[in-house]
Amino acid sequence: MTIGASLARGRERLRAFGDEGRFDALRLLEDIADLSAATIFAFPERELEHAAATRYANALERRVAGEPIAYIVGRTGFCGRTFAVSSAVLVPRPESEALVALTAAYVTDRSREAAPPRICDVGTGSGALAISIACEIPGADIVAIDVSLEALAVARRNADEHGVAARVRFVRGDLLAALDAVTVSAPAFDCIVANLPYVETAALEPAPAATAFEPRLALDGGADGLDVYRRFLMQVPRYVRPGTLLLMEAGAATTGTLADLAEAAFGDAAIVRTHRDYGLRERIVDVRFEPTRSLLSSRD
Ligand code: GLN
Repeated sequence: MTIGASLARGRERLRAFGDEGRFDALRLLEDIADLSAATIFAFPERELEHAAATRYANALERRVAGEPIAYIVGRTGFCGRTFAVSSAVLVPRPESEALVALTAAYVTDRSREAAPPRICDVGTGSGALAISIACEIPGADIVAIDVSLEALAVARRNADEHGVAARVRFVRGDLLAALDAVTVSAPAFDCIVANLPYVETAALEPAPAATAFEPRLALDGGADGLDVYRRFLMQVPRYVRPGTLLLMEAGAATTGTLADLAEAAFGDAAIVRTHRDYGLRERIVDVRFEPTRSLLSSRD
């Protein structure tokens, strides 16, 4: 079959997905035939090898079944870079890029400080946040934590591919408590970012199409979506110092509650704000530990 006929067949197969389906049919063909869209459109009369045609048909069926395109092609874009993904990790969302921008802005502000910034990414998954931050902030020292070994394997591969493996240390374990088991020179970080599971359990039964193929471990935040964040907030005080920035992503409906939980947990020691993500929804909680107040002494 020719390239042009294959594309037409792919678009027909994904017709139910509308515009997105037409685009996905092209993306899958680009990936499987290892051709650019420009070549596909310029030379539709070229033959697609039989083996490639079979792989294309299989990929189309996976997409028809609802699997995200990122899992089928095994990668996705985030912050202008490409990241390997597998079904062991959440597909990084463009909205989360705001966490990278806020971290970079904060570190630029404090650049008069001599020591390289120490940043922690909790629940790193594919490593998209930790690695993007490492790329954007040369010199930053990063610790990336995840409870899933399979996720950490994906993240390590991404760190290698982006040339930052020497600056990103991967640790397996439960949120910040994972650090108890390893030697960290100074426990406090300049910045902690977290995109932890925050979807209400009931909203995952049955899982909406967008997340049906994603690891539940990365999504399920318990009855009100904030169980994991509650546990995390209890662990935070040991790992911050006056001046630390803590950034957390949550759902549109839960960001207000998460901000309240942070207020309750840190009291006068921190200023809690919320930010919009790049989809303009209020989904980021920003906690700045006051340079003049000691968190630990305020709670003693
Ligand atoms: N952003 C994901 C969603 O929209 C949820 C990610 C998470 O729970 N951290 O489903």
